[in-house]
Amino acid sequence: MKAPAKSSASSSPAASVPAPREEASALFALLEEHGHEQVSLCYEPSSGYRGIIAIHDTTLGPALGGTRFWSYDSDREALIDCLRLARGMTYKAAVAGLNLGGGKSVIIGDNKIKNREPVFRAHGRYITAEDVGTSTGDMEYIRAETDHVTGLIGKSGDPSPVTAFGVYRGIKACAKHRSDSDSLSGKTVAIQGCGNVGYYLAQLLHGEGAKLIVTDIDPAKVKKVVDDFGAQAVGPDEIYGVKADIFAPCAMGGIINDETLPRLQVEIVAGGANNQLAEERHGDALELKHITYAPDYVINGGGLINVNAELNGWTMERARNKAGEIYETILRVFEIAEDEGIPSYRAADRLAEQRIAAIAKVRQNFV
Ligand code: NAD
Repeated sequence: MKAPAKSSASSSPAASVPAPREEASALFALLEEHGHEQVSLCYEPSSGYRGIIAIHDTTLGPALGGTRFWSYDSDREALIDCLRLARGMTYKAAVAGLNLGGGKSVIIGDNKIKNREPVFRAHGRYITAEDVGTSTGDMEYIRAETDHVTGLIGKSGDPSPVTAFGVYRGIKACAKHRSDSDSLSGKTVAIQGCGNVGYYLAQLLHGEGAKLIVTDIDPAKVKKVVDDFGAQAVGPDEIYGVKADIFAPCAMGGIINDETLPRLQVEIVAGGANNQLAEERHGDALELKHITYAPDYVINGGGLINVNAELNGWTMERARNKAGEIYETILRVFEIAEDEGIPSYRAADRLAEQRIAAIAKVRQNFV
């Protein structure tokens, strides 16, 4: 059975009432803020599927980004999360040297539901892949409706091992930037989130002789990292204040904020989570505290590199080597930051924008 996603404006009685003008303009103001090209609200009545698909920028190629399945407190919170994640993907592809645009989608709801097929079959409108709360099996359901899905079983599969490898390489680059040695042996790394990325990152860090302090809201996930890698466990709120060399956020976004910043006792913030800074000014604040910050979309580009490999028929070895180059990209970002006297998150934006502008110029010359 095909379950095509429909625009909420035409499919739900509540949504058929036109939004008040000021609410509509507030929504478009959100799109205008970062120049998103398109946002689709999707609703499928029989399954109750509610999804948002945001396409930020397609200058470099078709939009690609993961699907996040999450219970948001409000639809507005879901929309803002989706817009920020999509913009991050544009910049991530640009700095990773990939010819892909930026897009992302969210499915609003309980990601533990058992009957997943109707939801994921309603969700096939752009090139997607796994993110928080979704699995390779969920991607197979999308595949039943569209070719616009990556991270499939038997193809590139779960992107998180390559993401974790890129994050590991990025952390080493941060260590090199701080102390001229990129060895992590004997360093203490505090990892927030022991899910897919957090687990594989812990494995790589443990392999190099780093000491681990970990947390997760799911005790079973913490136990596995403690048992497998001898990590020390702390409570979810304690992770911000632990004494460590590196803080590696590998859970949700917005965790560098007014409340957590004064508590940080680390030299480096470098992890796999998207949208780590609650607001841009928190990136400035990290700089003022002399904390080295690896911009999130640069250091966590390995997953995107992995699914790009699937689209373009690269070997997994080539994907892993490309993710390893995140080391050099992070050092390049710090170089730009120093040369221009700007914080690292701005330097990363500059690097991405330069590549997008250069390719847009080449395209124009061909028209
Ligand atoms: P996941 O769902 O496997 O793991 C996330 C973990 O974080 C879960 O174990 C969850 O219980 C935990 N968590 C949630 N809130 C928490 C909190 N407040 N404190 C402590 N733990 C908390 O997801 P993942 O695939 O490992 O992704 C983790 C992050 O990395 C996300 O921000 C995701 O967008 C980003 N990311 C993932 C990939 C990838 O390849 N999977 C690629 C790029 C970026």
